[in-house]
Amino acid sequence: MTDSSSRDTVHSSVPIPQATHTEEDERTFAPVIETTDLSVYYGDYEAVRGVDMLFGHNMITAMIGPSGCGKSTVLRCFNRMNDLIPGARIKGTVTYHGQNMYADEVDTIEVRRRVGMVFQKPNPFPKSIYDNIAYGPKVNGWKVDSMDDIVEEALTKAALWDEVKDKLKQSALALSGGQQQRLCIARCIAVQPDVILMDEPCASLDPIATSKIEDLMQALANDYTIIIVTHNMQQAARVSDRTAFFTAEVDDDGVRHGRLVEMDWTKNIFTTPADSRTEAYISGRFG
Ligand code: ADP
Repeated sequence: MTDSSSRDTVHSSVPIPQATHTEEDERTFAPVIETTDLSVYYGDYEAVRGVDMLFGHNMITAMIGPSGCGKSTVLRCFNRMNDLIPGARIKGTVTYHGQNMYADEVDTIEVRRRVGMVFQKPNPFPKSIYDNIAYGPKVNGWKVDSMDDIVEEALTKAALWDEVKDKLKQSALALSGGQQQRLCIARCIAVQPDVILMDEPCASLDPIATSKIEDLMQALANDYTIIIVTHNMQQAARVSDRTAFFTAEVDDDGVRHGRLVEMDWTKNIFTTPADSRTEAYISGRFG
């Protein structure tokens, strides 16, 4: 049986995504970040090999695949976080709105402002809720009329304002894990990024907190381009417009490298993947 209903049965553990894109989306697909033949090395080890990807404007793109296949490594290329890891380097190109993100003249501080990042474990500063949000605009030296307005706007966009508006001077560390993660998203938003990278942002959260972050991601996609690494296929199916599936395979050189298997609209990846490795992974037969 090869019809689509049998496919739905095969992937019964993963919700079949709604068609989140339209023909118009396909026509107006505008890449914000693009990689060409991107390889990432740690010292001599080529952790990820030859990746070509496009990330569309105001879309949520999920990167999925078994542990160790290079998803976080690739994600960190998009705001040059790998530069902070000794021995890490790339080959190939990463462009941001068509400009080489790795050109000599590029200011990495500015890159990280425009392409913000949220990590697996919420990492608020040991400061007040207010100061966590005000920190970015202050260190960027922004002359702002009202920091209060910036703080309120960022917390509102991160769906946290109502929960914290009466305790802005309290320590961020007293918030729950889910609230801390939304605070980190608000901190990222406060410096007006264009892209938000999320590296397993719900991995340490309970299902209710996870659901709030997923709802938030979808709301944020109206204003931001979001790229999320997740080990949770259900999450990718629920929230993303597009999905990239990675795997790690031993190549001709006898070494294991992370590879991009395919990247497509999420509905296609979960119902009619082009590659049998994708199908095996999403149906739980490997990984
Ligand atoms: P994933 O996010 O898919 O789990 P990673 O990007 O974390 O995969 O890792 C990809 C490969 O790169 C793995 O083999 C991992 O051991 C290696 N790796 C990741 N970070 C480093 C590092 N800082 N130094 C050396 N090797 C690393």
